[in-house]
Order: sequence, then C-alpha cells, then structure tokens
Amino acid sequence: MKYFLFIDHPKGGLDIISQEKEERIRMYFSGIETIKTKIILKEKEYNAVIDYTMFANLTNFDCFNCVEHCCGDAPAIFDKKIRNFILENKDHYNELTKTFDILEELGNDKDEIEDMIKEEDVLVPSKYLGDEIDLCPCAYTPKNGQTLCSLHSICLDKNMSSKEIIENKPLICSIWPLEIILDEETNTLYLTLPDDFTNNFTIENFYTKSCINIDFAMSSIFRRENPNGFKEDDFKPFIVTYGETIKNILGDNIYILIKNRLLDKKMLENSDFIIETEQINKVLI
Ligand code: SF4
Ligand code: SF4
Repeated sequence: MKYFLFIDHPKGGLDIISQEKEERIRMYFSGIETIKTKIILKEKEYNAVIDYTMFANLTNFDCFNCVEHCCGDAPAIFDKKIRNFILENKDHYNELTKTFDILEELGNDKDEIEDMIKEEDVLVPSKYLGDEIDLCPCAYTPKNGQTLCSLHSICLDKNMSSKEIIENKPLICSIWPLEIILDEETNTLYLTLPDDFTNNFTIENFYTKSCINIDFAMSSIFRRENPNGFKEDDFKPFIVTYGETIKNILGDNIYILIKNRLLDKKMLENSDFIIETEQINKVLI
C-alpha cells in the first residue's frame, strides 16, 4: 500500500506505508460500512472503497486565521500546466511570493530564473528551499502570521472556475486533508479522513489540525495561540465545505453517491448542504 497523494513528493519515500499500518488500514476498512465503486484519478481508473461517513465530519478551513505552516513544504513535483501558469502570471506571482526577486538577489538572471521555473522539480533549486525561500515557493504572507497559496489567489483574482483553480494547483493541495491509500495489488483506492478512528494510520495527525478537529479548535491550548477565527458555528460537514472540490476531483457521480448515502442514513439533511461560501471560493478581505 502507498499514500497515493505522496507518490510524487519531491523528497521521495513519503508514500511508504509500514506493514503494521497496512494491517491497521485493512482491519479498519473491513470493519466499517463503505461505498464500493470505481473512480478515475490522474486519468486512471481504480476500484474505490469510500469511508463515506467521514464526509459528514465537521470541518472549518479558516485558512485566513490559521497560524499553521500548512504550506511549509513543496508538496509535489510541479507539472507543466502549473509552471506555465506561473510564467504567464509572473508579475502577480512575484508580487505575492517575492520568489523571482529572491532568485535575482541570489545572482540569477531573468532567463536562468525562467529556466528554473520550467525545469526544477519544485520550481527553484532545492538548495534554496527552507533557507532563502522558506515554505513552498508558491506560498505567500499577506500579513504577518498568515500563509496563503499564490496560485489559488491568482486564480480567484482572475475569476477562474473551481475546475481551473484545481488544475492550477498540485492535486494534494486541493484535496488535502482527504486521505487516499493505494493498494497496487488490487488497483484499489481507499478514501477516508484523518479522525479519531483513523489517526493510527493516516499520514496527518488529526489531533493537531484545527480545521478538521473541532474539539481541538475549541480547546484552551489552541485558543492561547489562536484567539480569533475557527468559530464553532462555521464548522460544516466536509462534503459541504469541499463540495466543489470533491465534484471536480472525484467526479460528480462520486459526490452524489456520498451525498445520497449520508441523506439515506440520516447522517445529514438537505438543509446541511446550504453554505455561504465553499472553501475553494473564499477570498481574503
Ligand atoms: S488547510 Fe487547515 S491547516 Fe492548512 S491553512 Fe487551512 S485551516 Fe490551516
Ligand atoms: S497550496 Fe499552494 S502554496 Fe501551499 S503547498 Fe500547495 S502550491 Fe504551495
């Protein structure tokens, strides 16, 4: 088994799942109700086993009030489409991230910088990452303590659709924190979320993520560091906050399957699906 979203991580090896965790995954999925279907991801068809009840978990992606460095690492080897998007919008990208300016200050001329964006796995030479260029090269800081994605912000500024936003970011960045586990032997993807019950095998630690753990977000430990944002009333089911993202990445049919199952099982009601702004369309004011 592998952590599907980490297969092309530039550091390599982050997709590896230990034998012990693999056993926990198999045990977990054999003991819960799931939706079994087919899914197309990255242009390939897989069998899918969906831990659908997790899609009713409460989430609040209040990234504008978050102090976590969730873009602290370059998340994937960037694809050609994203590289071209950066070069087409290089002034805006640089205005937000300062990445081009930093590379210039380090002695690179404009042609060398464009070549880096086109050819380097993570857009800039890895020797600069974490030092001169802290965080992901696409991350930016609109004000002290905040970290946002320049690719996402440029797309929103250009009024691009959810589909276009997703196409211009690494897949893992759009669909995180969904956990996708690949069983290569059976060509099966297992889908779930970090949660109390899955924390012993998911790659993310549920207990330290305020956007998916309402109890943590309401705790004094969290409030000491983050007194604003993450309001209790703003927590909504994952399928609602991530509706457009799920439709565009997993497919409309998968979204409808999960939604209908949650309604049939009375885990959610139609009124739960009303939301002012989904996470993907939230704009920093
Ligand atoms: S996705 Fe979660 S952890 Fe990352 S910035 Fe947003 S609220 Fe914070
Ligand atoms: S969301 Fe944007 S800034 Fe954050 S890791 Fe992904 S590409 Fe980089």
